Amino acid sequence: KAYGVNELRKMFLDFFESKGHLKMDSFSLVPQNDKSLLLINSGMAPLKPYFTGQEIPPRNRVTTCQKCIRTGDIENVGKTARHGTFFEMLGNFSFGDYFKTEAIHWSWEFLTEVVGIDPNRLYPSVYEEDDEAFEIWNKEIGIAPERIFRFGKKDNFWEHGAGPCGPCSEIYYDRGEKYGCNEPGCTVGCDCDRYIEVWNNVFTQFENDGNGHYTELVQKNIDTGMGLERLATVTQDVDSIFDVDTIKALRDKVCEVAGVTYKTDSKTDVSIRLITDHIRSVTFMISDGIIPSNEGRGYVLRRLLRRAARHGRLLGIKDRFLATLSTTVIAESKDGYPELEEKKDYILKLLTIEEDNFNKTIDQGLKLLSDLEEVLVKEGKNILSGEDAFKLYDTYGFPLDLTREILEEKGFVIDEEGFTKAMNVQRETARSARAVTNYMGADETVYLQLDPSLTSSFVGYETDEADSKV
Ligand code: ATP
Ligand code: MG
Ligand code: MG
Ligand code: MG
Repeated sequence: KAYGVNELRKMFLDFFESKGHLKMDSFSLVPQNDKSLLLINSGMAPLKPYFTGQEIPPRNRVTTCQKCIRTGDIENVGKTARHGTFFEMLGNFSFGDYFKTEAIHWSWEFLTEVVGIDPNRLYPSVYEEDDEAFEIWNKEIGIAPERIFRFGKKDNFWEHGAGPCGPCSEIYYDRGEKYGCNEPGCTVGCDCDRYIEVWNNVFTQFENDGNGHYTELVQKNIDTGMGLERLATVTQDVDSIFDVDTIKALRDKVCEVAGVTYKTDSKTDVSIRLITDHIRSVTFMISDGIIPSNEGRGYVLRRLLRRAARHGRLLGIKDRFLATLSTTVIAESKDGYPELEEKKDYILKLLTIEEDNFNKTIDQGLKLLSDLEEVLVKEGKNILSGEDAFKLYDTYGFPLDLTREILEEKGFVIDEEGFTKAMNVQRETARSARAVTNYMGADETVYLQLDPSLTSSFVGYETDEADSKV
């Protein structure tokens, strides 16, 4: 049966509640007391203190549906069937309670009995040295050995430097030949969209002392994550996460606003999917108190919003459109996230200000960029100077990766070192003049005045992720 997204979320949480788990609400996208992360990117991320023993969990079995943002997947969005920058991760967690056997049995029971997925289309993978997990899949669940894939550390071992770590077991679903890359050797683990990874079960079992010595943990943990949109894609038997009920409604709205039809042109489709995804990210980020700025989380928000705005231009949209789309995001997701409805006015107001701001310069910026491209062609060059890229950033509000993306489409690159240099010069000048620079449009104070009770207080972050860069 083709369950809806909102139904599947509830089915998952209810199932694990029936297995003794405590249902907890999604945590904010803004990490609390965690300077290693810019934005929450998995179900386990906000639960870290429970895993490390720093804090006592309210129960040793917990289940959540966590809002996630993965800017690392930004290049995939619109191009693969399965990646969004925003998605919801369903998870069940054990803090020193049950372990591998229960985790595997329950994941199988949920997929095949509760949701009713055809077991013949499912393929588990295990870490190559994890015979225990292999045996559970083979002997207890009854999967033939040739259907269980053994992968190495890169794919099936979860580890972040020193500390708790362990093997994982993932569950893939075969969507059939029509989604395959048809390359020889295309099978489970291929990067194409045929064997889609649905669920990751991490067995936190070892402690790495930092020198590659592993000892068994006394308190073993379970951390699992399944993309809600992917589960829906599989059960609804649709092409991509952009075709599941709630997201399709949004995608249709994008088409309506742009006056285009989905599936008539592949380039147009990429823009449609990209806008559909980015407006979800942006809506949820704003509802969690993130405001546009020139650094950190606020900059991620700004980049996503401007990227969506530019793809709107590609589709021929002339006027502001993001708030209209956000209304649909709110309508489709308020079931799971009532705060969206509560903060609706604020979200739409903020979006409108930020979009209007970019709209003032986007057309001139695009014009300048295409003039610059012409010059490059004439001169037989393919590198845009750092100063030009900086001008686009500073005067027209073009995030560097937006300029990069536009140029890449035509085979040009940016002198990125030159860009950084120009940026530093500008910062020095501003500092010495004690001037308040306000490149890139509206100042944070504009947003802070909108509704101070909603905007998150600034929490510092330390990260080497690309996220923090321009
Ligand atoms: P993939 O290999 O397809 O990129 P992943 O291995 O990076 O996925 P995990 O880190 O294991 O994903 O996250 C757990 C689950 O979350 C995945 O099995 C998938 O169902 C879902 N998921 C991960 N990234 C995304 C994304 N960008 N969009 C939607 N769902 C995602
Ligand atoms: Mg990934
Ligand atoms: Mg993977
Ligand atoms: Mg994975």
